[in-house]
Amino acid sequence: MPEDRAGDPFAATRAAFALPEGLVYLDGNSLGPLPKAAKARVAAAVEAEWGGLLIRGWNEAGWIDLPARVGERIARLVGAAEGTVRAGDSTSVNLFKVLSAALALRPEGVVLSDSGNFPTDLYVAANLCRALGRELKVVAPEEVSGAVGPEVAALMLTEVDYRTGRRHDMAALTAKAHAAGALTVWDLAHSAGAFPVDLAGTGADFAVGCGYKYLNGGPGAPAFLYVAPGLQEAAAPALAGWFGHAEPFAFEPGWRPAEGIDRMLVGTPPVLSMTALDAALEVWEGVDLGAVRARSEALTRRFVEAVEARCSGIVLASPRDPAARGSQVSFRHPEGYAVMRALIERGVIGDFRAPDLMRFGFAPLYVSEADVDRAAEVLGEVLETRAWDRPEYKARAKVT
Ligand SMILES: *Cc1c(COP(=O)(O)O)cnc(C)c1O
Repeated sequence: MPEDRAGDPFAATRAAFALPEGLVYLDGNSLGPLPKAAKARVAAAVEAEWGGLLIRGWNEAGWIDLPARVGERIARLVGAAEGTVRAGDSTSVNLFKVLSAALALRPEGVVLSDSGNFPTDLYVAANLCRALGRELKVVAPEEVSGAVGPEVAALMLTEVDYRTGRRHDMAALTAKAHAAGALTVWDLAHSAGAFPVDLAGTGADFAVGCGYKYLNGGPGAPAFLYVAPGLQEAAAPALAGWFGHAEPFAFEPGWRPAEGIDRMLVGTPPVLSMTALDAALEVWEGVDLGAVRARSEALTRRFVEAVEARCSGIVLASPRDPAARGSQVSFRHPEGYAVMRALIERGVIGDFRAPDLMRFGFAPLYVSEADVDRAAEVLGEVLETRAWDRPEYKARAKVT
């Protein structure tokens, strides 16, 4: 792990990002900041590869290998073996692919999920189930474990709740699903890069995750998917394309799946976005995810204590025990939207989720103790002076 003279093991990773001076950025759980390496690599890819190589870039610049190369970098961060992760498409599309593959392997039974899941996951599952004549059953997050039974074909969950940060016990729920004969599909959107994930160790069957949150791949960055080694040769995704064909450039009329995980690819990868994500992942080289987790727990704990000591009228919506949450903290306030707008105008960026949640993400690679203290101080001021109580802070923008 890189260390600076003052012994802060994260000084080097913080220096790897091009963060605007004076800004406290607590929204890396929604969009990670720009890694300096990504800026340089994308500029070079545009100029030398797209501009200079043109079509030759597929072979000469290795564009064709990006889904695998980027996937292998992500594999290390989510406890996955080589050859089990590929980058590409969006999280929503990847979820469709892996859930359809899971349901093909379990032709009977329901998909079980919870009401804390991210809406896109539920939309994907509901419409896939409708197309297949299957059923999606949605229970409260605390009822998931009790609802796992022999009628469940696939247990589809997001490990960390996007609103509250509450974390499911992936190992225990996977074991329970397997004992009932079900396959598991995990969404790691708020897990990958936030703390150590152990896909291989927990025996998870399928997973998906996001490239633009804690992995810092840039707006709309490609996502990733995982298929456990033992399922790869049987996996038959409902969405097939030429990049998942055994011989894409044989141009055969029928789809023959590529060997292993590569069959999960669909179409042409977005080369510039993949290049940005590939470069962003370099920041993780040598970073110990156990240390990331320890720091995340310390930062979130420090924030909760500072906010509760100084602010009134807001209520903690995240689990109080750092071990029971991801790397974010949420507080409820009836005017949460306006409060967040006031914070953003004062250089403290978090975000808002309806109806009343203010979310603050703590990405240890670049968030410092000083950021935490400053955010709590500004939040205290905004609440105390009612600085949020202005019409322009209450008018909702298109993206919250
Ligand atoms: C952010 C997020 C997504 C985003 O999906 P996209 O297809 O990239 O828009 C999906 N699921 C969860 C749980 C998320 O947090």
